Amino acid sequence: MALFERDHDIYRDRDALREDYQPSELVGRDEEISTYKAALQPIVNGEQPNNIFLYGKTGVGKTAATRYLLAHLREDVEEYDDIDLNIVFLNCDGLSSSYQVATHLVNELRDEPNQISTTGYPLAAVYDMLWSDLEETGSAVLIVLDEIDNIEDDSILYQLPRARANNKLDDAKVGIVGISNDFSFRDNLSPKVKSSLCEHEIHFPAYDATDLKAILKQRANVAFHDGVLSDGVIPLCAAYGAKDAGDARQSIDLLMKAGDVARDDEAEAVTEDHVDSGRTALERGRIEEGIRGLTEHGHLVLYALLTNELEGNTPIRSRDVRPRYTRFAELAERDPLVPRRMRDHLSELTMLGIISVTERNEGRRGGTYREYELDMGVEQVLAAMSETVELVGVHESVVDSALEAQTEPELEDDTLTSYE
Ligand code: ADP
Ligand code: MG
Repeated sequence: MALFERDHDIYRDRDALREDYQPSELVGRDEEISTYKAALQPIVNGEQPNNIFLYGKTGVGKTAATRYLLAHLREDVEEYDDIDLNIVFLNCDGLSSSYQVATHLVNELRDEPNQISTTGYPLAAVYDMLWSDLEETGSAVLIVLDEIDNIEDDSILYQLPRARANNKLDDAKVGIVGISNDFSFRDNLSPKVKSSLCEHEIHFPAYDATDLKAILKQRANVAFHDGVLSDGVIPLCAAYGAKDAGDARQSIDLLMKAGDVARDDEAEAVTEDHVDSGRTALERGRIEEGIRGLTEHGHLVLYALLTNELEGNTPIRSRDVRPRYTRFAELAERDPLVPRRMRDHLSELTMLGIISVTERNEGRRGGTYREYELDMGVEQVLAAMSETVELVGVHESVVDSALEAQTEPELEDDTLTSYE
């Protein structure tokens, strides 16, 4: 018997649920696409391209719409002999400076043997190379800067749109498409950059449950065999997605996770229960990642809070967490942080959604204070910081709660046997 066997009961093409899959049609984005298309029209007319600025939260179809339109644009301009269009698509994730962006652009425009090193040149020299490379194309060049909010300085965002006005370019007609996941990025641009870069702004709003349902349905038709999804699965994934952030990526991920859970269960259909287990697993993954990324003191603060929670002491003030935190730090042979730094860790844990905070009023005496409590399952948290727990030792409250958890099923077993 074969050790490996292909399973194909659930998925027809699981890859259709992956991040890198490009749907051939976008669902429910007609208005945005029509505005976007109009903004790209000058290219087809052989005119100077517009600068376009797309913004909206993550997972609302900005990149997908761009890839979709540019694929059509590339194909359709071939009809016209007088148009020579170059498209440069650069994702700025990991590129934090104008310098890095400029060197990457140069390399996008150059063939393999002429690539430049991404360090070591003066910025002005890189810009000169960029202008001469652009000029050499002698054509329309559309530069897409996806996730543009990673760029921390304005320089290239100022230089690129103004290159013609500043006589750096003559033959080349450059247009910029900037795509941002971050609303505040645009507002923080200097006025002179904003006015040129954001000539045509297109906002991509978050999806609601109805939008997400249509998107999921389209994807599911490709990814799953007919009749494999129970009726409630897509509405449920869409409802969760709409509640979370209106993010299509998260909804698609959830659908895939549900499919995987069903497949691992060797189930014949994907059910709402699979969606719920999928959601728990994804959530756990996200939070565990958050906890793993914390520093050791972050873990010690969290452990101190968690044990107080098990003892029923939460919501609890920072100063009441402190004695245990200090003791845990000493047990782990670390110097405890001063109270203010310890509070910073509580704030960080709050931001990550691992603990929650409530503001309280002292009443007539005036001041307000904060109380903290754990916002997720004890076991999940413990699993994600097992190293710290080992260092400090297992606290008695954890032992007690583990014992409690163990006794319940045993009782059930007893009842079962007595009925036999
Ligand atoms: P953004 O760039 O805004 O963060 P993406 O364009 O990467 O979001 O979209 C996230 C995922 O959702 C991708 O897999 C994309 O194919 C899919 N998606 C988003 N909007 C639509 C839509 N209107 N129709 C079909 N699929 C979509
Ligand atoms: Mg994107």
